[in-house]
Amino acid sequence: MGFRMANLAGQAVLLDGKDYWALGTDPMDALSRPRELRHRWARRGAPGGRAALTDLGPPVPAPRQVFGYGLNYMDHIEEIDRVDSMGRAVSEAPVVFTKFPACLVGPAAPVKLVGDRCDYECELVAVIGAEARNVDESGAWDRVAGLMIGQDISDRALQTAASPPQFSLGKSRESFGPVGPALVSVELVDDPDDLAISCQINGEMRQNSRTGLLMRPVAEMVAYLSSILTLQPGDLIFTGTPGGVGHARGLYLQPGDVIRSEIEGLGVMENTCAAPQHH
Ligand code: ZN
Repeated sequence: MGFRMANLAGQAVLLDGKDYWALGTDPMDALSRPRELRHRWARRGAPGGRAALTDLGPPVPAPRQVFGYGLNYMDHIEEIDRVDSMGRAVSEAPVVFTKFPACLVGPAAPVKLVGDRCDYECELVAVIGAEARNVDESGAWDRVAGLMIGQDISDRALQTAASPPQFSLGKSRESFGPVGPALVSVELVDDPDDLAISCQINGEMRQNSRTGLLMRPVAEMVAYLSSILTLQPGDLIFTGTPGGVGHARGLYLQPGDVIRSEIEGLGVMENTCAAPQHH
């Protein structure tokens, strides 16, 4: 049992490969009733049609809260430290910021570049499926509806413009949150704590890692956040990016670049970069 739910032109669908089954409601409503999603998946029968990646919107289009974990893979901490030479030690408390939900777009939506220091960050995104307040790690996965791929697109210039650096705005520009292609329920993923994750730019492998290397794994993140506030169904946690970001080598995103993001069992996203708009 399980489900793969996607957003087809604003409507919730079950998605298996390219085949889809309309659920007759919107994605946020469908997500609030995971038992029904599992029921419909088990009895899905003949598909209603076929959907292309470009037809899909963000599987969770309007979460209340979107959290981003920073510096959660050791090789990323090391590469950032080499560039910024800030002598970063591994933080005792997690580094958490906000991506404002309005930045979320679909798995093939254009990424609208701003300036010349925009960067990619391929990440596993955990989607909360049940209210969580003060849960411990052993109960944390029970509160997760499923997983999807995310790109935590970042404007490094804006991110480092203030002192101390402020992440939230530079990671929340319009279209800076591609997610998808589908929300995959946890039971359909082989090992939700250890998935291959990669990112290619124009076919060149830039990030290639495993989520098993997350320094703070999903259960720990859910437990920590739920000790501070109440997590609600639909809330998203961007779990951090592995090493290989453009900032580490001065290779920022250019107009026309194709960002290909892949996570084992979750599918692929392909987002093309659009030139900055001049007003
Ligand atoms: Zn990130």
